[in-house]
Amino acid sequence: MATSDKPFQGVSLAELPKSWNFTAKLPPDPAFPTPAASHKTARDEITPRLVRGALFTWVRPAPQQDPELLAVSPAALRDLGIREDEAKTEEFRQFVAGNKLYGWDETKLEGGYPWAQCYGGFQFGQWAGQLGDGRAISLFEATNPATNVRYELQLKGAGLTPYSRFADGKAVLRSSLREFVVSEALNALRIPTTRALSLTLLPHSKVLRETVEPGAIVLRFAQSWLRLGTFDLLRARGDRDLIRQLATYIAEDVFGGWEKLPGRLETPEEPNKSPPPKRGVPASEVEGPSNAAENRFQRLYREVVRRNAVTVAHWQAYGFMNGVLNTDNTSVYGLSMDYGPFAFMDNFDPSYTPNHDDHLLRYNYKNQPTIIWWNLVRLGEALGELIGIGAQVDDETFITKGIEKEQEKDLVERAENLISQAGEEFKSVFLNEYKRLMKARLGLRKFKEGDFEELFSEVLDTMEGLELDFNHFFRRLSSIRLADIADAKGRKEKAAIFFHKEGPPIVGEDAGKDMIATWLEKWRARVLEDWGQESSEALSEDEDAERIRAMKQVNPNFIPRGWVLDEVIRRVEKEGERQVLDRLMHMALHPFEDSWDGATIDGVEYKGDREEEQRWVGDVPKFERALQCSCSS
Ligand code: AMP
Ligand code: MG
Repeated sequence: MATSDKPFQGVSLAELPKSWNFTAKLPPDPAFPTPAASHKTARDEITPRLVRGALFTWVRPAPQQDPELLAVSPAALRDLGIREDEAKTEEFRQFVAGNKLYGWDETKLEGGYPWAQCYGGFQFGQWAGQLGDGRAISLFEATNPATNVRYELQLKGAGLTPYSRFADGKAVLRSSLREFVVSEALNALRIPTTRALSLTLLPHSKVLRETVEPGAIVLRFAQSWLRLGTFDLLRARGDRDLIRQLATYIAEDVFGGWEKLPGRLETPEEPNKSPPPKRGVPASEVEGPSNAAENRFQRLYREVVRRNAVTVAHWQAYGFMNGVLNTDNTSVYGLSMDYGPFAFMDNFDPSYTPNHDDHLLRYNYKNQPTIIWWNLVRLGEALGELIGIGAQVDDETFITKGIEKEQEKDLVERAENLISQAGEEFKSVFLNEYKRLMKARLGLRKFKEGDFEELFSEVLDTMEGLELDFNHFFRRLSSIRLADIADAKGRKEKAAIFFHKEGPPIVGEDAGKDMIATWLEKWRARVLEDWGQESSEALSEDEDAERIRAMKQVNPNFIPRGWVLDEVIRRVEKEGERQVLDRLMHMALHPFEDSWDGATIDGVEYKGDREEEQRWVGDVPKFERALQCSCSS
């Protein structure tokens, strides 16, 4: 698009290239077969009900009076390809509140029209039936003219849809602010996530939760909003045609073509002589009828599996918890999504869940990889027939009539094999990614056999035993100069920087320092090995400075913790402050800086609030650690 040397500055909202592929290629709610049918229906007549044979319903956002634009993410503007000053316009304010539609011709009653998706899901392990976008309404897909990346833009908190069930279609400011900030913060940490462009306060909307709260709308966007739960619902209804249609749509439209999916795994020449499936072994070496017939739907399944393995590895490495990993909150595209009672880990505690209502700890930190796999097995089951049929997937009788009785046993066996094979792939992709991230967080260049047990596990045990803050640990470790921990005395002195302000851990100051110092000694040896000249006993100043810089690039100084978000919510909601949100966003978008006030970031000198910054990156106040939230949002 850029014809001159000038970097791309973005376009206006009106100029932004828009499409409606989702609604053009997938079936609509039969109650409103056209956008016009929906548009001609009074908005309050579009009420909750079961919707069959469809993937969405055309429905427009509810009108909003006097919306107040509270914040915009500059990173989101840039990634969407919208020019920065556009966010200051009246058109933008109306657009992000749902008052201005693009693509719809009001007089001719034709054009692109907003929609709400239909999906189901397993919630806390139980089948929950039809769910769907109960308060989210998608507007269009927008393609960034410079990068060609396409996103689906959606308003959360935009009013009732057929999928609102017993709820009100609204979102409160508290949870909207949390979602807005964390979406952009995770992206800045390079964790795959859905994004957020803006946060709008609805001054006339009073929403009843535990108390009456102000309403809000987040404009959020993602390459796809499809969830594993979208398939669950089709499977529960036995809708095999739609499963095939949706899977094809995802491969061709969302992932950009079948050829973009992982390559077909080789078929062993003598399958029966191959060894039985083993952890970490490439699937090509696994025996059985399974991979002999790996078809394109299996490759699609593997793509979804691999993406989610990468994402959950990021959560584990950065101590992030979604809090409600139901299948309807698990993304087909492998994005972190649907932020309710999420949290970042404070003191390292693998059993911690941020979800106050999660009494069985199903969604706690240590269960996340297992739970994501559990969700992916549900997807494997929904795709079971398509992957199990193997090479006959395009046979006319299979497409139109399904499988014959005598095919059933073989097909089930093959599908089961393929799902467990994908499970091995999930484990190995997860482990590789987790190792890669932890290695970087610990300042290592190469992964060495033994690092897992001797460095990763031990540091986590030490953090857990001494109740140390997980993310502070990595950041503080980053700035230790290797020369300062060359001897036992230095190591013991430095160990104290990891303690909380209120004093040493429960085992006592001396024992605590010893534990950390012991680990620091091993860590120092490994850093030397990776960064130093061969057989040198120390790093040069330059080498060490480079190592420190590299570590700070992956170990954030700022993350939006529950207590900081609570403070900002209170100040915005109760005390009428506004700028505090921009300052929070600035830190969330540039999480690796040493400080923000006075620093030049992206070529601009930034004016912040030094006292506030230091508080937010400092010790978590003792009674605000490991906060829990309810699901009410
Ligand atoms: P969540 O717990 O946010 O993932 O939501 C689960 C389901 O409930 C989804 O189908 C949501 O669309 C729906 N939902 C949650 N809150 C509301 C609300 N206030 N109004 C309408 N639907 C909602
Ligand atoms: Mg959800």
